[in-house]
Amino acid sequence: MAKYVLPPLPYEFSALEPHISARIMELHHDKHHGAYVTNANGLLDRLEEARAKEDFATIPALERGLAFNVSGHVLHTIFWQNLQPKAAPEPTGALAEQIKRDFGSFGTFKKQMNAAASTVMGSGWGALVWEPLLGRLITVQIYDHQSNITQAGVPIMVLDAWEHAWYLQYENRKTDFFDATWNLWNWSDIAARFEQAKALELKLVGATG
Ligand code: MN
Repeated sequence: MAKYVLPPLPYEFSALEPHISARIMELHHDKHHGAYVTNANGLLDRLEEARAKEDFATIPALERGLAFNVSGHVLHTIFWQNLQPKAAPEPTGALAEQIKRDFGSFGTFKKQMNAAASTVMGSGWGALVWEPLLGRLITVQIYDHQSNITQAGVPIMVLDAWEHAWYLQYENRKTDFFDATWNLWNWSDIAARFEQAKALELKLVGATG
């Protein structure tokens, strides 16, 4: 049966220093992301067992756990690829045009994205999402890994606001961490995700424009 796997980081643990320390990257990837993968696979096994025993009463809790862990796996996988050492300061081409159209300017988008991440109450993410009904980019504040999401939206850029992403290095100065990530965004990866998201045909109706 198909299983979830932890993909290796696309760079060394130390590659994002000084903005994100090697120790954070090692713990965050190997332990935190790794645990979401392990737990997701464990929950698939437990769902299989519950089905076999026709123990349907336990299935909602298992499915909630699966949604949390698979979403954590997906968001971290995007986050690692969204980052790179020695990043360009801003996107170019169609992505840059879309950001300007939907947020007014890159500077305003940057403020909105940082605000989405830094005002999460508890654990969550800031995300830049392609919203296919309107055909535009929006920011979304994701709680945990899976709450507060616009359905059918495709995340193309995600910013981890969980304490495990920054506390070891930035302590109580989390906005310094969010500011530092703007030295690391891999705009080629984000632009490629933008093009893929636009190309999806989801057979949705319910918007004008
Ligand atoms: Mn994380």
